[in-house]
Amino acid sequence: MTARITADWLRAPALQAVFDALETDGDEARVVGGAVRNTLLGLPATDIDISTTAVPSTVMGKAAAHGLKAVPTGFDHGTVTLVCDGIPYEVTTLREDVETHGRSATVRFGRNWLHDAERRDFTMNALYCDRRGEVFDPVGGLPDVEARHVRFIGDPRLRIAEDYLRILRFFRFHAQYGAGDLDAAGFAAVVDLRDGLAGLSAERIGMEMRKLVSAPRAPETVLAMREAGIVSRVLATHGGLRPFQDLRALDALAPETRAPALALAVLSDGGEADLDDMADHLRLSNAERKRMKVARCASDIPRGWDEARPAPVAKTEILRLLFLAGREAAIDGLLHAWANAGVGPEDELFADALTLLRDAEIPVFPLTGKDLVSTGVPAGPAVGEGLQKARAAWIDSGFALDREALVAVATGA
Ligand code: ATP
Ligand code: MG
Repeated sequence: MTARITADWLRAPALQAVFDALETDGDEARVVGGAVRNTLLGLPATDIDISTTAVPSTVMGKAAAHGLKAVPTGFDHGTVTLVCDGIPYEVTTLREDVETHGRSATVRFGRNWLHDAERRDFTMNALYCDRRGEVFDPVGGLPDVEARHVRFIGDPRLRIAEDYLRILRFFRFHAQYGAGDLDAAGFAAVVDLRDGLAGLSAERIGMEMRKLVSAPRAPETVLAMREAGIVSRVLATHGGLRPFQDLRALDALAPETRAPALALAVLSDGGEADLDDMADHLRLSNAERKRMKVARCASDIPRGWDEARPAPVAKTEILRLLFLAGREAAIDGLLHAWANAGVGPEDELFADALTLLRDAEIPVFPLTGKDLVSTGVPAGPAVGEGLQKARAAWIDSGFALDREALVAVATGA
């Protein structure tokens, strides 16, 4: 099988300049991994990684000679980032494993494209292309890309034992790019070796899980992971699988369903302490942790509203949610509630509420301390107390009370 790709990122003068710099003095360079895979799949390429026969110090020298900015981002393991036209290109020297007592452990720089490919995880991730787009396929990745089949390079058990993160990557790439069933040999191997997940760092697990839960085929993939006994090992929860399926059934209505923090909050079926456990377990950022919690809290408000079905009440409740939580959190909360309501994407009440949340203007409290002082309230604690009373009454009124009425509430007139 042969292939040739064309893409804007490949024709970009910046990338061609990087090739000009690298392919001197008998050295070769090829784009590798995600960019080639995604282009073959008709998907946008995210970042562009380049493999080269040149060792890192030589890459730095070539960059300097061609006026390219070079940052030694991972110099010791072979990576130098070249920046051209503001685009970063990660350039990594070809690597190969050195056999030590039958177990590949040490890595050294090499000049062999096949050996470099064999160190990668899946066949679809070991495709290379040269500066003209001609694809090189040392380990049979092209048919697998075509079939969207995520297949380990070599014996899955050996490859997993080298790096247990590959268990999660197997599911993650299937969720992102796979079609049909998971590879049977790969699945059997991940089940056998799942205990190895315990030795992985929380950061590495977190990075993979974020990508996994937002991937197009996450719902069925997470189910397969539960069957494999892996969900509870990586998420510190048995998982609200049904709500998660229901959340992702809303993808077409709301892109927010794919935000990792919201997806993870829905997957965690427990209370706030469980959310904290999950956030610790995945080393989520403070912002992500907060977004999970706020989504969960905000989701209680529409539930209250749900019971009070008459439409005018609904609108008030939605405005209240918008005002109290802000738009992003309000939408998260509504989606969280929708996912847990068991009503499906056709539910009109939730759909209407979502439209309202997107379109409604966030009410702005019309009264200020200055207003109160100008009506004779003495500056000091009385102003704050008055404002608070007025604000509560304003929310209760469905944001209907105007400034005059609010002054009356605040001053007890
Ligand atoms: P994405 O679009 O998600 O970034 P990607 O293919 O670029 O996809 P990365 O995790 O960025 O994925 O890794 C880049 C490449 O490095 C992969 O395509 C794969 O060839 C190789 N690779 C990364 N991590 C591993 C690993 N744990 N084991 C083996 N090979 C790996
Ligand atoms: Mg990448």
